[in-house]
Amino acid sequence: MSDCLFCKIIAGEIPSRKVYEDDACLAFYDIDPQAPTHFLVIPKVHIPSVAAVDQENAGAVAHIFTVIAKLCRELGLDSYRVVSNIGEQAGQSVPHLHFHVLSGRDMTWPPG
Ligand code: AMP
Ligand code: ZN
Repeated sequence: MSDCLFCKIIAGEIPSRKVYEDDACLAFYDIDPQAPTHFLVIPKVHIPSVAAVDQENAGAVAHIFTVIAKLCRELGLDSYRVVSNIGEQAGQSVPHLHFHVLSGRDMTWPPG
């Protein structure tokens, strides 16, 4: 999608601090980190949010979770939180599916 911030990051039109990339997904550090480690993992196809996941695109989501597990192992993270905000009230600010991976500090439950 041409006016999507994360599609522009995927296209290299906006720079990012890349953690990992393959044919199906990109992981990069959040520009406004909320924990000592905070990166985002996004599919290369434009999916607006978890609310738009269906049988056709679910493979991209499953793949992202294998990447999250692998990256966290490689980064030596043994405790972390994976978050996806859906819609304005939940705090979604970029309408391209993304999973936040946060680690390196104590976290509270329930989240705010
Ligand atoms: P959300 O608010 O859940 O939609 O998450 C969007 C995230 O994208 C926020 O945590 C932002 O800090 C992050 N973000 C926005 N612009 C950029 C950017 N150019 N590079 C990296 N992260 C970004
Ligand atoms: Zn997009």
